[in-house]
Amino acid sequence: MRPFLFFLGFTITLSAQSIAFTFDDGPKMGQTVLLDAAGKNAAILGALREARVASCLFVAGPCLETPQGVALVKEWGNAGHGVANHGAAHGNLNGPHSTLAWFEADFLKQDARIRTLPGYVRWYRFPYLKEGDTREKRDGVRAFLKAQGCRNGHVTIDTSDWFYDQRLQQALARNPKLELGPWRKAYLDHLRNRAQYYDRLAQAAVGRSIPHVMLLHHNLTSALFLADAIRMFREMGWKVIAPAEAYADEVYRMEPDVLPAGESLVWSLAKAKGLQGLRFPGEDAQYEAPLLDALGL
Ligand SMILES: [Zn+2]
Repeated sequence: MRPFLFFLGFTITLSAQSIAFTFDDGPKMGQTVLLDAAGKNAAILGALREARVASCLFVAGPCLETPQGVALVKEWGNAGHGVANHGAAHGNLNGPHSTLAWFEADFLKQDARIRTLPGYVRWYRFPYLKEGDTREKRDGVRAFLKAQGCRNGHVTIDTSDWFYDQRLQQALARNPKLELGPWRKAYLDHLRNRAQYYDRLAQAAVGRSIPHVMLLHHNLTSALFLADAIRMFREMGWKVIAPAEAYADEVYRMEPDVLPAGESLVWSLAKAKGLQGLRFPGEDAQYEAPLLDALGL
């Protein structure tokens, strides 16, 4: 029996959940509710540094249009984090106006802007997680990224942090001195709920827990609550890992055959497998608004 017990223990260790934190769309200049772009940048980088967590910033074009924006992005690379491509125009690939030729030009334009920055990594995250609504576009962008030696900067845990951020900013505009505690709790509950949902979905779609990549944004909720989020996942027994460590897992080489393509990789794999009961759009205000309404937030 002893070798068998040992084997069981080993299996349990391997199946512990892990998560990498990644941030899109930042830094957005000119948003000044509570913290400006530099303040949010400092808060997010500070939380990562304190917790000794490596991360990645997926940068869209507008963030690089001012010298101050470029300087803030450089702080990520200088702190040891990745700086990756999120498109020059932050366009939606799932639309009649977004052609394969447009995508390629947009990718290359942004790549030229970021490739000399510290921390540059050849990862691309599709804006809105839209990977193409036709077979031609989807297969075209997959082939193009491969030819570029660029990996899809996949997300497995999609969140609606953008919605919590929007609502918090509106509330702060009404009352700059509001009590942040209830907002922190609602936000953390949301991240935990989404992580547990996508982890269960991974077990159903892939047959195991996978090293997850969570999508957050360079926004006020990240600036205020990231340290609490990292602490919460560690207290839940999840290991916080670097994005590169997650992407080394073979699951990130899978290319689910679904159209329209994109969303969370786990969601896409579940859809390709024909699992029932998937909600769509995966992360949308319609799911979160009633929750925050009920809390009076
Ligand atoms: Zn984005």
